[in-house]
Amino acid sequence: MPDSREGGRRSVTAFPRTLLEFQRLFPDEGACTAYLEAIRWPGGYVCHHCNWSGEPWRPKRHATVLRCAACRRDTALTAGTIMRRTRTPLQVWFWGAYLVTTQTPGMAALQFQRQLGVKPYETAFQMLHKLRAAMVRPDRDRIGGRWPVEVDETYVGGKTRGEGRGVHHKTLVVGAVEVRESSESHTRTKVRRRNVYAGRLRFQVIPDRQGETLCAFVAAAVDPGSAVTTDGWVGYDGLAALGYCHEAVIIAGDQEVTDESLPMVYLVFSNLKTWLLGTHHGVSPQHLQAYLNEYVFRFNRRFYPMTAFNSVLGIGVGIEAPTYKDLYRGEKRHPKLTGVAEVASTG
Ligand SMILES: [Zn+2]
Repeated sequence: MPDSREGGRRSVTAFPRTLLEFQRLFPDEGACTAYLEAIRWPGGYVCHHCNWSGEPWRPKRHATVLRCAACRRDTALTAGTIMRRTRTPLQVWFWGAYLVTTQTPGMAALQFQRQLGVKPYETAFQMLHKLRAAMVRPDRDRIGGRWPVEVDETYVGGKTRGEGRGVHHKTLVVGAVEVRESSESHTRTKVRRRNVYAGRLRFQVIPDRQGETLCAFVAAAVDPGSAVTTDGWVGYDGLAALGYCHEAVIIAGDQEVTDESLPMVYLVFSNLKTWLLGTHHGVSPQHLQAYLNEYVFRFNRRFYPMTAFNSVLGIGVGIEAPTYKDLYRGEKRHPKLTGVAEVASTG
């Protein structure tokens, strides 16, 4: 574990796996600024004004500023990150980033505020939204390729408080997930046990189950040429023509057959619904896609927590964090995510 008070360079590769490790890694503001410096200048400080390199001055009054020893101009360590011009301590931001990226069920704003002890509520709300900004943007690269992909749709949502149950509140979601196989299975036993796990994931809210809709989703989410397994729904009939090795499994509403033929996508849908209900007590249809993207972000980076941590803080990437105005545009001041208490699968 590197000493946080060294200032300047330090090892940044190992990501803390426990809260205790995290606390040891970022015990104070100095540790956080040293981390930002190490990420930005892995080979040592270079002034972006005059290109001078060497040991910069560190003004005592401005802990997040480095001053060039040659031209004396300042560089803010938080420039280009979501912590730019923040009055909240960096340590709180780091804790926040750790919480939103490592906790499998994401966080509601109130819970977030309580855990970090941030006041007022609006500050916590704004922080959480800034941290989630990187997560709610959809991943752009296509999944599949060498890994086969399972695709299916499901209904998410259900009844709104005060109203009866109704399909009219349910939102249709299509999902695609890679079925990966771990290398441990290269044994020469008679019965070769398949050691499979879920690879990358994509979710999208869709208006209907028409072939055009479903095929457009697959074309955008899955590499052409990939092996794609779906149920027997005619909406997927166009996949072969789009260049996919399409296998349609006839299920006809039989749950056991679904579990056997599309086990991975069945599992991720099930986990998604648990998350939506458990953490957010349901999500309104208009915000659902953002929550799906957040889920996918965390899921796809679950083996790369350091990448996720840096991404949400905007470290190393030019993220435009939303302003306070943006956050509240069209959104209630204290968003209570009511509605949606039921979930159902497509038959
Ligand atoms: Zn300079």
